[in-house]
Amino acid sequence: QDDLFSPPAGDAARASELTRLLNQYAHEYYTLDQPSVPDAEYDRLFRELEALEAAHPALRLPDSPTQRVGGALLDAFDPVTHVVPMLSIRTETDTEASGAAAFDGRVRRELGLSDADPAVEYAAELKFDGLAVNLRYEQGLLVRAATRGDGTTGEDVTQNVRTIHQIPLRLIGEAPPVLEVRGEVYMSHADFERLNQRQQAIGGKPFVNPRNAAAGSLRQLNSQETAQRPLSFFAYGLGEVQGSSVPDRHSSVLDWLAALGLPVCAERDVLHGAAGLAIFHQRVAALRDNLPFDIDGVVYKVNRRDLQNELGFVSREPRWAVAHKFPAQEALTTVLDIEIQV
Ligand code: NAD
Repeated sequence: QDDLFSPPAGDAARASELTRLLNQYAHEYYTLDQPSVPDAEYDRLFRELEALEAAHPALRLPDSPTQRVGGALLDAFDPVTHVVPMLSIRTETDTEASGAAAFDGRVRRELGLSDADPAVEYAAELKFDGLAVNLRYEQGLLVRAATRGDGTTGEDVTQNVRTIHQIPLRLIGEAPPVLEVRGEVYMSHADFERLNQRQQAIGGKPFVNPRNAAAGSLRQLNSQETAQRPLSFFAYGLGEVQGSSVPDRHSSVLDWLAALGLPVCAERDVLHGAAGLAIFHQRVAALRDNLPFDIDGVVYKVNRRDLQNELGFVSREPRWAVAHKFPAQEALTTVLDIEIQV
């Protein structure tokens, strides 16, 4: 009985230690763009804390990283309040078959579907390993770009985003009066190699990985410096939209964004049920090493937007999407050996 109400002292100490450590890592990763441990290590500790909190909800501290998105903002940029919050995505790390089945099972339960009902339609995409931005277009013109920040408030990086050639300053064709596009700013492998060669030539420190290079480059105080850093972009979703009807499926939203001139990754598919998702996961895992940019998994989204609305959100993530990760490629030693620079 006691166990139910007062968690063991060892668990309380561990939860508080994990909260402190994870908050320190999140600060280094999100705010300073200088991670000190690899993602796999962060994810492992995060899952340990989640499990402790699930077993003993009393151990959930008010500053627990399981309750929030991202990290603190840099004062150097003006804050931007997101009209539609920018959330995280729940992560599955299981094998292709069981990770896909776990997500599909949850979706079917939440939607009240029985075994007799047909398979759910999903949109599957790559999980780009960069950083999320919100692009706001008014009357087709890019007026503001912001980082995700803590999900509610991001940083105004408009000047820096304007230097990214792939991001249109004016949309093509008939754009709605207000359209917010969400996507990932990333750096390709080739551009990352070239940038590190340049760093070496000028006696600078190399960047630890393309994600870190992209995040550091986008959050430069001097946009002339950002202009020297080769950044790319993929659109994967919407924020606020005014004055236009939005296509009824996520896959059609991406087609719409592509038609408006935004870069959308061609490596995506519409699939049915857990079996369809597992096949996509397997196909992308085989492709991964040959892609010209880093991904850390795939993302599955319920394709019908009316069903997305029905499923809604839990605290920091939507119920209608999941990130199905691949095993980590980096090892602790290799990351810690390299000096990191912003
Ligand atoms: P996340 O990055 O795992 O997932 C959410 C993000 O996925 C979105 O914000 C978006 O930017 C991105 N994304 C990429 N492709 C997408 C697509 N097709 N559709 C939708 N979204 C897409 O979640 P998170 O909350 O930002 O952070 C967790 C990640 O950050 C983990 O991988 C974790 O390891 C890493 N992290 C590492 C450290 C560290 O110290 N190494 C610290 C904190 C976080």
